[in-house]
Amino acid sequence: MKTVLVTGGAGFIGSHLCGFLLEKGFKVICVDNFLTSTADSIAAIRDNPGFKLIDHDVSAPLEVDGEIDYVLHFASPASPVDYSKLPIQTLKVGALGTHNALGIARSKSAVFMLASTSEVYGDPEVSPQPESYWGNVNCVGPRGVYDEAKRFAEALTMAYHKAHRLNTKIARIFNTYGPGMRKKDGRAVPNFIMQAISGRPLTVYGDGSQTRSFCYITDMVEGIYRLMLSDVNGPVNLGNPEEHAILELAKKIIGLSASKSGIEFRELPVDDPKVRQPDISKAKSLLRWEPKVSMDDGLKKTIEWFRR
Ligand code: NAD
Ligand code: UDP
Repeated sequence: MKTVLVTGGAGFIGSHLCGFLLEKGFKVICVDNFLTSTADSIAAIRDNPGFKLIDHDVSAPLEVDGEIDYVLHFASPASPVDYSKLPIQTLKVGALGTHNALGIARSKSAVFMLASTSEVYGDPEVSPQPESYWGNVNCVGPRGVYDEAKRFAEALTMAYHKAHRLNTKIARIFNTYGPGMRKKDGRAVPNFIMQAISGRPLTVYGDGSQTRSFCYITDMVEGIYRLMLSDVNGPVNLGNPEEHAILELAKKIIGLSASKSGIEFRELPVDDPKVRQPDISKAKSLLRWEPKVSMDDGLKKTIEWFRR
């Protein structure tokens, strides 16, 4: 039985990943300090005999007993609302947290995976974004704390791969949504669904013409799993290549939830990327992976979960 250590394992993606890995027969060690989550997210797996929780800030050094085969570093605030409230913690977990997680992987001769992000491309001048695009990031802007933390984390991961021959993976994750997101997470999908089902106006920032590409959580977890088992070491985009304007997303959610809510336009946050769409050719050819869940099906399941 192989063991996987997941930092940020109590978060939205992390908790789905822990549940999936337990079902596949792995032992799972979750390291989380509940900075942007609560223990509720792991309630369903907490008593599984293969699951162990270490309540710890991964930006501080950590020693873990026993064998570990994979280290998946997912700890980091991820919602723009969270990382703008937690700028120093975000930079620390991207830098010190990644260093500590790499250190654990090295000491255990484990495979390491970094949860990176489409934000390494910043406000992209190339669309769709292939992995070869270097990005357009404002390092001193409000998103810089997250973007630069992840860019540093990618550089550190590649340095461990080259200097220590560590078997590393970099998942460049694009917008992911689904059941298990926090109601007040602040990201577009949970905000719009909560507003729609409670009859409040949906808050669209700017004119809503900015685009994003939304991947359903089960597709994302499958992509992460395939990358984890692959022999690919360079960055790989994981996301749904279908691109939607944010205003279109808001209208879709109103329709799918049969809501009477209207739309309220608010100021566009500084440096909000105008477009975002993954080029997933690499994931398709190297991992034989592409998303399967349609936007309508994924949103319906998510709306149902939020209603409950
Ligand atoms: P989330 O906020 O739901 O989960 C993050 C988890 O990390 C939380 O449980 C939080 O408590 C934990 N954490 C934060 N700092 C920590 C620290 N110092 N020590 C221990 N635990 C810590 O976010 P998410 O959406 O699940 O994102 C998970 C990862 O995936 C992040 O690294 C994020 O950058 C990346 N990612 C997510 C998306 C997305 O759309 N969800 C997109 C791109 C990248
Ligand atoms: N957004 C919005 N209303 C909201 C929340 C977000 O219009 O209540 C917009 C946000 O400005 C961005 C897009 O939706 O253009 C996606 O935002 P999110 O916070 O989900 O993730 P991002 O891709 O910006 O990291």
